[in-house]
Parts: sequence; C-alpha cells; structure tokens
Amino acid sequence: MDEIVSTVEQVLDNIETLYLYGESTNVSERRFHDARIKNGKLFAVVQIHGSFRFAPGKFAGYVNNDISHADNLAERDGRKTNMVLSSLFGEALGPSDEGYDAIDQGFLDYCNQKGILPSQHGLKRRYWVLGPASAETPTADPKELTERVERALRRIHTRKPPVPKGHHKVPKSSTTLERYVRDPEVIAWVLREAAGNCENCGSAAPFKRLNGEPFLEVHHVRSLGEGGPDTTDNAVVCCPNCHRKLHFDKENDSLRLKLIASIKRLKDFPLNG
Ligand SMILES: [Zn+2]
Ligand SMILES: [Zn+2]
Repeated sequence: MDEIVSTVEQVLDNIETLYLYGESTNVSERRFHDARIKNGKLFAVVQIHGSFRFAPGKFAGYVNNDISHADNLAERDGRKTNMVLSSLFGEALGPSDEGYDAIDQGFLDYCNQKGILPSQHGLKRRYWVLGPASAETPTADPKELTERVERALRRIHTRKPPVPKGHHKVPKSSTTLERYVRDPEVIAWVLREAAGNCENCGSAAPFKRLNGEPFLEVHHVRSLGEGGPDTTDNAVVCCPNCHRKLHFDKENDSLRLKLIASIKRLKDFPLNG
C-alpha cells in the first residue's frame, strides 16, 4: 500500500523526483516523466528559479514516489490524492482563477521545451500551486476573521511558519461599533503553538468546532484597549473558562503576571504603552 502525502515537503520531493527524470539521460526515466506530463490533468506546480515544475496529482500525492511505483499508478485513486492536495494547497486553480494563465502558459512552455505534446482532455488542466501563499490580512469583521484564521491554519498546519510580525499600532475600523482590526495570522499562529490546550490551565479544549478545530480563544495579555499590541508575544490561547477569568477575576492582574512568567514568548507590555 502506498502512503498518501501529508506535508508540503513530501509533495515538493515528488515534484523534484519527476523533474529530475525529465532531465535524465536514462531513456526509461525520461519516458516515464514525459508520459506523466503528457497525460496529466491535475498538477501540483512549484516555481523554482523563475521556472515552473509540475507533477500530476497521482504522482505528487504519494510519499517518496518514484519510477519503481509506476505499475501502481493505474490502480491509484486520484480522488484521494485530490482531496489531500486540495487540503494542503487549497482548491486547484482553474481557467477562471487569477494567475491561471501564467501557470498554464508555463506548462505549455515546459512541454514545448521537452518535446511533449500534451493530451487534449475534455476538461482544462488545473493546478495546485505550492509556495508561499500570501498571508491573510487583518479585519474587523468577526465572521471574516474566523474564516481568515481557518485559511491561515490550513496553510500552516503542515509546517511551522515564521512568527508573524503582527501589528504594533492596531487600527480601528470606522463602523458605528468600534472594533479592533485583528490579525488572523497572529491568532492562527498562537493556536497552533498551543496545540489544542489552554495555555493558562493546561486543559484540552472543552469541545471541537464543526470544522474539527479545538474550541479555544485568543486573549491579549495586555488588552488592545489598554494599548497592548496584536502580536504573538501579547497573545495567549485559553479555554473559555480561563478567558473569562483573565478578564473578570478579581485577581486577574496577578493571573496576567503568572501567565507572562510561565510562557516564554510573552512580554509584559505596559499599560497604555
Ligand atoms: Zn484554561
Ligand atoms: Zn481576552
């Protein structure tokens, strides 16, 4: 049984393997490469040194894929790899999506270079694009914020991302109800760091959301209203109970200091600092 990929790196490895077959002096390796490229409909694509490299989903989607697995290709279920690749990279780009034309042209150029005539399929080719997906931007709309956090979480689940810079001057949106514009990347990053547990009491999230994510809340140790920044060194993940305590317990300032003392990344930001 071949194992389906679960990380971005595994997909990158496969793309690299197929690319090297395309460059190989070994005829069977080159033929293998050419057939994959010629017949593919759904490709994982990465841009390296300004040029695109491609691998069809069924090849990109299995761990440590190589030519020795060639015989298994026919019986593989593309739907499984499609699902996993879509969860790693988002839905594959289609002809109506922004950026599609450049990638499809890159594909035709690649084929041309290798002397491959791509098969005509009823459906247009589609592409999963690997690489630094653009960061989510801050928003004051709570519903939109939830969606952006979900997208950021999906993107960073597989590998630890760099610490987002966050925002030191937190803007307010000008609606009738004033709200702080919060950074979904900061929320997603600390949620991932907490790995499903409250950073105050250590308990697991009390329940899971519909999407399977643990229900935890992100609290600003020095609140935004008191001039705290929207950054990872001022944000802590807590269960709903601890969150209320941190806001409303009469001892909440000593709770705040205890948190700062116990979690290395936190800093003590001054009141109205
Ligand atoms: Zn807790
Ligand atoms: Zn809070």
